[in-house]
Amino acid sequence: MRFELTLLGTNSALPAYGRFPTAQVLNIQEKLYLIDCGEGAQIRMGQFGLRQAKISQAFISHLHGDHIYGLIGWLTSLALINRQEPLDIFAPEGLEEIIRVQLKYTGGLPYSLSFYTIDPSRHSLIFEDKRVAIFSLPLAHRIPASGFLFREKEKARNIRPDCIEAYQIPFQAIPGIKAGNDYQLEDGRLIPNADLTLDPPKPRTYAFCSDTAYHEPLIPLIQGVDLLYHESTFCDDLVDIAAETGHSTARQAATIALKAGVARLVLGHYSSRYPSLEPFLLEARSVFPNTELGVDGASFEVPLQGRG
Ligand SMILES: [Zn+2]
Ligand SMILES: [Zn+2]
Repeated sequence: MRFELTLLGTNSALPAYGRFPTAQVLNIQEKLYLIDCGEGAQIRMGQFGLRQAKISQAFISHLHGDHIYGLIGWLTSLALINRQEPLDIFAPEGLEEIIRVQLKYTGGLPYSLSFYTIDPSRHSLIFEDKRVAIFSLPLAHRIPASGFLFREKEKARNIRPDCIEAYQIPFQAIPGIKAGNDYQLEDGRLIPNADLTLDPPKPRTYAFCSDTAYHEPLIPLIQGVDLLYHESTFCDDLVDIAAETGHSTARQAATIALKAGVARLVLGHYSSRYPSLEPFLLEARSVFPNTELGVDGASFEVPLQGRG
């Protein structure tokens, strides 16, 4: 029952110091969701052993090149390995045009590719399947940009094995009890569901806050998430440039994490002005101690937890 983020690229703008532009993969119960697709994303997927065939949905935050220039190469490589399964891409308006014109002149795809336009100005449900619901998160950037909130679906209740034994519950009755039904014995007695089952683990959450200036309206939308990735393009020495370019500093990312009461913060989207990432970590931890540096290839798992 994995819920694990792997970072494929953590730099902003251009690749530098071994850091690729933004791309991530979130593994939820062995299904993979691609988040942004900067140049070289497919190279990183291969290096980090991620099974591309398990990706059916990609979520693109905005149309700056460092978040999309890996797409056409990846889509074409999927064709070369003879993908047949459909692929869905969720992105702000314009991406479909960009990709379709490239495919028009470079060749088609053997699989079906569908685009779904998201409105970066709205916080709304954009996709759900049996594992997860995914919401857009309006950001404050130079062009329309959306973060994404991944909220795992509530799991079925856990039936107590001792009750199956004690009440001789037949196999056919178990799905109903897991869904919350009471159970009636042959003598007519009704056993309440609360006596038969235990709470399922808590649904896990991940918020991806891609390129954005310091933006307090995010705080209620990501309140209490298990894992927050928040861009930190600069440190506080360049706070003015951060504001001018629609980016955040490490201190600002940590302040959002603190105010939103998240469990864990991961930094990324570093400017190429910084060869070393240590200043980001020190600055963020002075505000929010449970911060970690995102680096290419790092994985962050959110374990299952009881409701305690
Ligand atoms: Zn960027
Ligand atoms: Zn950007």
